[in-house]
Amino acid sequence: MHPIITDTAPSFSSFSLAKPLLIAISKLGFELPTPVQQKAIPLALEYKDLLVSAETGSGKTAAFLLPTLHHLITLPSKQFGTRALVLAPTRELAQQIFNQCQQLTEFTDLKVGIITGGDDFRLQQNMLRRNTEIVIATPGRLLELMEQETPNFSNLDVLILDEADRMLDMGFSEDVLTIANSCNTQRQTLLFSATLTHFGVIKMADKVLKNHEVVALNTLHDGHRNIEQQIVVADDNDHKQKLLAWLLLNETYDKALVFTNSRIQADSLRGPLRGQKLRVGVLHGDMDQKDRNRMMELYRDGEVKVMIATDLAARGLDIKGINLVINFDVPRNGINYIHRIGRTGRVDELGLTIALVKSTEWNLMSGIERFLKQKFKRRTIKELEGKYKGPKKLKASGKAAGIKKKIEPKKVVAEKIKIRHRDQKNIGKRRTPTIVNPSDSQDQKD
Ligand code: AMP
Repeated sequence: MHPIITDTAPSFSSFSLAKPLLIAISKLGFELPTPVQQKAIPLALEYKDLLVSAETGSGKTAAFLLPTLHHLITLPSKQFGTRALVLAPTRELAQQIFNQCQQLTEFTDLKVGIITGGDDFRLQQNMLRRNTEIVIATPGRLLELMEQETPNFSNLDVLILDEADRMLDMGFSEDVLTIANSCNTQRQTLLFSATLTHFGVIKMADKVLKNHEVVALNTLHDGHRNIEQQIVVADDNDHKQKLLAWLLLNETYDKALVFTNSRIQADSLRGPLRGQKLRVGVLHGDMDQKDRNRMMELYRDGEVKVMIATDLAARGLDIKGINLVINFDVPRNGINYIHRIGRTGRVDELGLTIALVKSTEWNLMSGIERFLKQKFKRRTIKELEGKYKGPKKLKASGKAAGIKKKIEPKKVVAEKIKIRHRDQKNIGKRRTPTIVNPSDSQDQKD
């Protein structure tokens, strides 16, 4: 995958990186820094802790390796121990980082090592004992080695958590924290994640990033570039049901996922939709695991094209071909909204998401738009136009019913997330970026 680079980007040499690194960059054929490199490298060179949103393919590996290697070259060398540790969720990713690190260190004396499960334990212990400066590891095997007291991270200069959201989804949260807690407290920490709106990532950032300033690069929008987001206003739930049936019968999709806020609502939609000859399934927390698995199988195989689900039931649902997500109920907060729409438009797929919004949900929906720093496209279904047209003051200014010009994604800006002290009570943690909506607990009830 080739990263997108604008021709207005500064050159790598403007970052004043150590010479051996500039030579390696040139040998790799990197002409200009990618957006994430432009923003992260100067800040990381200032030895700041960073929370960075970046996907695979954005050039994120060099964004954290280059400033780290620069520190190792320019800071006084330590007598023993690892100086930079990169944690990655999978062997494959660790291997990719290792390869790139070897290329970038080609003109230095720095040694790079890799620690992943499945490889020889003894060899890995020996590698660590040789004071390899940079270690790329998956958390599981590294912890096993730590139990034998081989690694020494008391002199660590930089800790990097790559694809933190994936590490958390794979259940590495405790392991990552144990490793981070064993590292030099004066270290720099760089936390990279595809999305910053992953609740676990925000909690993790709160625990491992020591500086009082958390810096986020990219707008929240960036994680969902391939999803078109629309709003259709509705008079009430009956009207919503008609709109839902219309959309499911008229939109083009392989698989559709419909979200409700409650099990009762999920169940109540099935009958009317089946009446429309749609192949519909329901997934919620009241069903036993066997039924849930069967339902998922039918959905995965395409036997069922429409699934109605609550948040908890849909968690972790990674099914190919979901290209329509309909929020029958507006989710209770922005984090839930992100989780829901994240079920569509995965990787290279395009997705459409439509929220059905009645008057009592309008404020909630606007809150989600503000949270995401986005305005969704207003859409009217001519055949089923209702009385409710959105709040009056928006209507007067022409903003309510799709009159507004197409909204371009916000320019990517380096954005400092301020600490909002009044959120601390809810989260029970020291620092909380303002993007957190701590009431993200409703789906436990589904
Ligand atoms: P990553 O997102 O780190 O997995 O990088 C994706 C691909 O982009 C890798 O093959 C890198 O070698 C390449 N890459 C990283 N930075 C640049 C750059 N500034 N110019 C061109 N290619 C790059």
